Amino acid sequence: MTLDPIKPAFDPVTLAIPLFVITIVGEIILGRLRKAKAAYEPRDTATSLMMGLGSNIAGLLTGAVVIAAVVGVWQFRIFDIPMTAWWAWVAIFFLEDLTYYWFHRLSHERRFWWASHVNHHSSQHYNLATALRQTWTGGIAGTWLLWLPLALIGFPPAMIAIQKGISLVYQYWIHTEAIGKMPRWFEAVFNTPSHHRVHHARNPRYLDANYAGILIIWDKLFGTFIPETDEEPPRYGLVKNLGDFNILRVAFHEWIGIGKDLMTARSPREVLGYLFGPPGWSPDGSRETSKTLKAKWLARQEAAKEPAPPLAAE
Ligand SMILES: [Zn+2]
Ligand SMILES: [Zn+2]
Repeated sequence: MTLDPIKPAFDPVTLAIPLFVITIVGEIILGRLRKAKAAYEPRDTATSLMMGLGSNIAGLLTGAVVIAAVVGVWQFRIFDIPMTAWWAWVAIFFLEDLTYYWFHRLSHERRFWWASHVNHHSSQHYNLATALRQTWTGGIAGTWLLWLPLALIGFPPAMIAIQKGISLVYQYWIHTEAIGKMPRWFEAVFNTPSHHRVHHARNPRYLDANYAGILIIWDKLFGTFIPETDEEPPRYGLVKNLGDFNILRVAFHEWIGIGKDLMTARSPREVLGYLFGPPGWSPDGSRETSKTLKAKWLARQEAAKEPAPPLAAE
């Protein structure tokens, strides 16, 4: 069997579109009938669907550049990896997932990449439609940069594209409150609705956690895993919510925020801080970052644990 190493034989995301439609309608109906936990708000769902559509259009615009870059790097490949070998698919499954973890982590920890990813977290609901709330500016922010090492190793561009699609389709079904916890062995290895609810939560205790794509093992390995606890149900959305369903604002608000801050920057340090510091960075530390929010929460926890001062001796 010969497979085109550059043009993917199929696109997992396109193939999954009927599944997206059927399961979103199913989740809405189950939610209405109170057979499952599923909160939908029509304006919010419309925004999610429009963001998904816009993301595909943006992908078409930047696609040619991305393909040229990946194919260009692949010309200098170290190994010739055959697409027909089973071990090649096992290898790319793990390596693509590892690169996804790091890119996703960067997308939360550095504002330039957060500006592109923030829209995925802008819904205050957590349902299957939220999964479709995808970036419009990922091409510009370089979502695809971590595909380049895979091409350099020698994985054919078509293989990288298919594995990326499989990862995206996998991550679709975990955007739901209808599923509580999966069996323990599954929760231990794979990213699940429970793990990803934590990732979408804005409760301080859950911030900056569970960046996994398919396998949760990377978070456990690199120290970013936080389990969902029954005592604290996740509250969804951004630390400061947009309160807006305007798709242009959802897509571009953080880029506009960066632009406004850069206009006030007084030194190269401030320019770099506003662009590549953690989201919420400010020269005088007057704004909140997820680290400061988490530290304050921890301090409150500690204070609550401390025994009350002894009563004064009479
Ligand atoms: Zn994220
Ligand atoms: Zn998500």
